[in-house]
Amino acid sequence: KSASKGKKEMMRETRLGLSKKKDVNFGEWYSEVVVKGEMIEYYDISGCYIVRPWAMSIWEIMQTFFDAEIKQMKIKNCYFPLFGVQQKEKDHIEGFAPEVAWVTKSGESELEMPIAIRPTSETIMHPYFSKWIRGHRDLPLRLNQWCNIVRWEFSDPTPFIRSREFLWQEGHTAFATKEEADTEVLEILELYRRIYEEFLAVPVIKGKKSEHEKFAGGLYTTTVEAFVPNTGRGVQGATSHCLGQNFAKTFEINFENEKGEKAMVWQNSWAYTTRTIGVMVMVHGDDKGLVLPPKVASVQVIVIPDPYKDADMQGIFDACAATVKSLNEVGIRAEADLRDNYSPGWKYSHWEMKGVPLRIEIGPKDFANNQVHAVRRDSAAKIDIPMADLVEKVKDMLDNIQQSLFECAKQKRDACIQVVHTWEEFVEALGRKKMILAPWCDDEEVEKDVKARTKGDIGAAKSLCSPFNQPELPEGTLCFASGKPAKKWTYWGRSY
Ligand code: AMP
Repeated sequence: KSASKGKKEMMRETRLGLSKKKDVNFGEWYSEVVVKGEMIEYYDISGCYIVRPWAMSIWEIMQTFFDAEIKQMKIKNCYFPLFGVQQKEKDHIEGFAPEVAWVTKSGESELEMPIAIRPTSETIMHPYFSKWIRGHRDLPLRLNQWCNIVRWEFSDPTPFIRSREFLWQEGHTAFATKEEADTEVLEILELYRRIYEEFLAVPVIKGKKSEHEKFAGGLYTTTVEAFVPNTGRGVQGATSHCLGQNFAKTFEINFENEKGEKAMVWQNSWAYTTRTIGVMVMVHGDDKGLVLPPKVASVQVIVIPDPYKDADMQGIFDACAATVKSLNEVGIRAEADLRDNYSPGWKYSHWEMKGVPLRIEIGPKDFANNQVHAVRRDSAAKIDIPMADLVEKVKDMLDNIQQSLFECAKQKRDACIQVVHTWEEFVEALGRKKMILAPWCDDEEVEKDVKARTKGDIGAAKSLCSPFNQPELPEGTLCFASGKPAKKWTYWGRSY
């Protein structure tokens, strides 16, 4: 009893613990958890955030995976300048214009021509594609860059999810044929699905964006859509676009094909951003803080000594070090927190806040019995592990945590999906924060109308995607919004 009182006092003292509850005040909970979990520090400029090492390490783990995968696809990394002269492709420029930040001065003097800071790099890269691509042997041209992006967003900034500067990779490719471009679009989308589902343990739906929601200037956009049950909002997780030949036309990206005729390239672009991290936090976090899936946690196991006054301190410390060493040897990212200026209770709360998947405690009893005491972050389940089984058991537990985080998130997401057929059902489901699957006529005007009719304080509903995995659409099914014949099933909802 007195130990738990001590812990509480300590937490008050050091302001550990969250003051907001995820189910009660989600927005404030999120802001608090990303700061107290040491992922983000707020910055003086609205919409810009400091990405701290705890979050950066997650980004780097995803980056290592994705970078290796695209290299296997023979996509090469490069770097283009941050600055560009916004020019040419009309729909694209119009689409991005409101969010472009400009440099207009250097020192005291006005620049002759304002310089745009990239909101994406199509118009910066494509003039060089035109220069470098001459014949069919120059194709495909497949480039990627890891960089920062600036979009001066107007809607509410949210750390990771919607920021004014963010990190991403952007792939830009050109092919001789549409078939090759189409194939790549889906290969990349599959990598994005894997980032969400296999690394971040967040279920996503693969699908196609509507004409209204597609990338400005592109031919079609594919997406992995995530969903945040607490707010009932969809999130565009990452996008893989086929640009068709629109940009090739504008930037004159032509080549001589095998028959010696002049032809135009087919292009793609694709990107995922630090938004991924925010989606993971929103989906898995709880009232004790972050919950990190083992695959992306830079510390998968935290080992904490729990000595009593007259216990064999050195023995316990040695057992902690030996535990870390055994785990590190098989590639498990384990660390010991041996600081003596914090109590074990404080350390438990601290690492819970940071979302470390597994905690191992070693106290006098464990030491005497040659065992450790393990506590799961996700379920709080506790087990004693004999030292002899340590590596095998910890491996199993980490796999199990990864799997059960995904399954739990999928169950919650699936419970939010609701099929509707009529406008009344749609409005009712939207009110209950559902991810709505509805038959749609695929008419852009109808989508604009849905937006207008659902406009309110918390934002209008829009189409999220038409899933590739389409349920059967019986003859005569009507659109939920227009009453015209439906062409496809489409997900709708509010979104970030
Ligand atoms: P886009 O080039 O517009 O297709 O954007 C690529 C991806 O970036 C989108 O699918 C989003 O997941 C993500 N994204 C868009 N805007 C932001 C933002 N302001 N902050 C963080 N991520 C973003």
